[in-house]
Amino acid sequence: MSIIAFIGLGNMGLGMAANLAKAGHEVRALDISEDAIAKAVNAGCVAAGDMNDAAGKADIVITMLPAGKDVSMVYAGDVGVFDCAKPGALLIDCSTIDVATSRDVIGLASHKGFAMIDAPVSGGVAGAAAGSLTFMCGGAPEAFAAAKPVLDVMGKNVFHAGDAGNGQAAKIANNMLLGIHMIGTCEAFNLAEKLGLDAQTFYDISSTASGQNWSMTNYCPAPGPVASAPSNRDYAPGFSAAMMLKDLRLAKAAAGNSGALTPMGERAEAIYTQMEQGGHDSMDFSGVMKLIKGAL
Ligand code: NAD
Repeated sequence: MSIIAFIGLGNMGLGMAANLAKAGHEVRALDISEDAIAKAVNAGCVAAGDMNDAAGKADIVITMLPAGKDVSMVYAGDVGVFDCAKPGALLIDCSTIDVATSRDVIGLASHKGFAMIDAPVSGGVAGAAAGSLTFMCGGAPEAFAAAKPVLDVMGKNVFHAGDAGNGQAAKIANNMLLGIHMIGTCEAFNLAEKLGLDAQTFYDISSTASGQNWSMTNYCPAPGPVASAPSNRDYAPGFSAAMMLKDLRLAKAAAGNSGALTPMGERAEAIYTQMEQGGHDSMDFSGVMKLIKGAL
């Protein structure tokens, strides 16, 4: 069993750390929120007072933080992971952040002699709690191989996407596609309704025809056809429009940096920005249906 420093015990990190503790690892929990640390202790982790206390003896350091600036600060800032972790510690960043920062931080880690991977996830808070996340990892094959047994505790599918930052690239390209097909699915249901089809009739046809997609069959934005979808709970999240917008903005930045044309991704970002400007971004991202219907 390993000593694992877990930094960032919010909605996602808490469930992930709890599963590591349940599997018998010593999980040393660090967060700027005392409430987050208290919840982690309740879930079987050990409270760490500071970075030295968290990372000083850890074999593995895992971070699950909001954004790139937090990741840079936690690793490379004053009294950060790079200062405190013991030589040979394996570093795993599970946050969803911009590709450029991810590559910079992993490059710095390697300069300091640490093996590090990016390992962003999909599966949401429920997947974190259930240990059924999908991990998309980037970094050296040996670092990925060393991280895999620990990621297997927290997830069901663990992919190696290639070099440092490629996990982030996979995550934001996937989520850009999700944002696009969610909006397209809303438009199709709305058009069908305006032309006289009820949601179930259109679903029965389109879900077995060429318009079929994940947003339709797993997360249908029109109330009715998919019982578990947020559309049946007045679009309570789930995966919020704010989170989707964060990922679409990361995709836009990465597209700009790499010269990739993403006109549909940009349009999706503009539409979710409208939700944000209207103060509706805490709603599930499938709530964009209301915007498309002119009901927001
Ligand atoms: P969250 O805001 O609930 O948790 C982040 C935690 O990090 C908080 O407890 C915060 O106090 C802590 N933190 C921030 N700065 C810190 C610092 N300097 N040192 C120590 N702790 C610090 O966010 P979340 O929903 O758990 O998401 C975490 C990451 O996972 C994000 O990058 C997000 O995009 C990604 N993600 C979230 C979901 C989801 O459904 N929530 C799904 C997939 C990926």
